Amino acid sequence: MVTAEGLAARRQAIAGSSDLQALLAHLVARAAPLLERLPPIPTVKALLSADGGICPDDGAALEFDPWSPHQHRCPRCGKTWSGERHDRHWARFQHLWMAERAAHLAALGALADNSAAAARASEILRAYARSYWTYPNRDNVLGPSRLFFSTYLESIWILNFLAAAVLLRASGRLDDATARGVGQVADEAANLIGEFDEGFSNRQTWNDAALAAIAVWFEDAELAARAIESPTGLLAHLSRGFGRDGLWYEGENYHLFALRGFMTGAGWARAAGVDLGEEPALAGRLTAALLAPALTALPDLTFPARKDSRFGVSLAQPMYLELWEVGLARVGMRDALKDSLTVAGNGMREVASWLKALYGLPAVVPEAFDSYLHDAPVARTPHPASRISLSGWALLEPRVRPAGRRARAPGPAAPHAPRRRHALASGFRYRLVRESGSLLVPLDAGSQRPAVGRRNRGVGRRHV
Ligand SMILES: [Zn+2]
Repeated sequence: MVTAEGLAARRQAIAGSSDLQALLAHLVARAAPLLERLPPIPTVKALLSADGGICPDDGAALEFDPWSPHQHRCPRCGKTWSGERHDRHWARFQHLWMAERAAHLAALGALADNSAAAARASEILRAYARSYWTYPNRDNVLGPSRLFFSTYLESIWILNFLAAAVLLRASGRLDDATARGVGQVADEAANLIGEFDEGFSNRQTWNDAALAAIAVWFEDAELAARAIESPTGLLAHLSRGFGRDGLWYEGENYHLFALRGFMTGAGWARAAGVDLGEEPALAGRLTAALLAPALTALPDLTFPARKDSRFGVSLAQPMYLELWEVGLARVGMRDALKDSLTVAGNGMREVASWLKALYGLPAVVPEAFDSYLHDAPVARTPHPASRISLSGWALLEPRVRPAGRRARAPGPAAPHAPRRRHALASGFRYRLVRESGSLLVPLDAGSQRPAVGRRNRGVGRRHV
C-alpha cells in the first residue's frame, strides 16, 4: 500500500538526493500553469478516424496542445485547423493528459506539501467523477471504453486517475465525497476492462495493470488475484509474453509498450503486497526484458521498425529513459540482496551502462505517447535527455527492499485452490502463495506463441 509512512520515507529520500530534488523542482515549475487555471476537460469521447488529427494539406500529424481544444496546428505547414474530427482526436490525448496531471499534482501534494496542487488534483478527479457516465460506451474499435475507443486507453487513463487518488488518500488530502466519486469511476472502469480480456496482447498488460490498481483502491483480493495470477495476468505476461531472450514476442515497439505496462502493474502489485520480480527466475526475466532493447538497437540507438512500428524513434525518448530509470531502481534492489541465486546478477550495472549510453546521445525531439504526455505541449526542438526532467515516477520508486511477499517461480503444480486473505479494512495485503508448493508459472514460451484476442466476458468487478 501507499501509506503515510511510505510517503514520509520518500520525502526523506528526496531530501537526500540532489537528482530527486531537481526533479521535484522541475515538476513544481511544470505545475504552475495548472494552478493558474483548470485545463479544458473534453466534453466528448475520443474518436479514431482517418482524418482527425491529420493535416489535410500535407498529411502531418497535428500538434497536441492541451490548452487549445479547437485550434490544431500543423507542425509542417504551420496552418491551423479546426472541426469536430480534429477536436475528438485531441480528446484522446487530453483525457490521458488530464489524468497524468492529476497524478502529477497529487504527487506534489503528497511529497511537497503543496496544498494548491492537491486541491487541483482533487478537482480533476471530481470533474471526471461527475461526467464519466456522460461519455457513451459505444462506437469503439478495440473493446469497451467510455472516454476512448479502445479498452487499453481506458486502462492507461485509470492508472493515472487512481495514482492521484491513492496519493491524495495516503496523504490525508482526499475528502469523502471525492473518494466516493473515485470509487464509482473505478468500479465502472473495472467492469469495462474486466469484460475484455485481450489474452497475450501487449494491450492486456496495461489492462492487467489497471485491474491491479483498481484492486488496490478497493482492497479487493479477488480482483488482485485475477490481475496478477490469471492465465493472462501480469505473471503470465512476464513469463510467457517476454521470451527467454527477454524480448516481447511482438517486436521492439510492442516490447517497450508492454514493458512499461508491466512495470506500472508491478508497482501496483507491490502496493498489494506482492513483489513480482523478487523470485530469482522472474527477476532474471525482468532484467532480460529491460536489456533486450539494448541488444537489438540500431547503431544510432533507435529501435528497428518492425511490423506497424514508427520508423526512427530514439530509445532516448524520455518515456523510455524513465523505464530504465525505474528498472534500475528495481533491479538494483535485487542486486543489493546479494542473492547467489539471482539470475539478474550484474543487471544493475548493465542497465546503468545502457542508460549512460542513452544520456550521451545528441538531444532528441520529444514525442507524444499515449502513456507519456508529460512534456506536452511538445516544442519541436531537440531536448537534452535528463533524469531530472522526467515524469516524477522516480520520486515514488523506493530503492530499498519492500516488505512484500515473493511471487514464486515455477515449481510443482499446486493442487489446491489459492488461499487468499480477503480485503481487510486496515492493512490490505493480498497473498500470492498457495497453501503448499509454489505458484505455477511456466517460464518458457519457447517457439510457441500464445493465442491472442481471447475474450473472457462477464468477469469484471461487480458492484459491492
Ligand atoms: Zn500541414
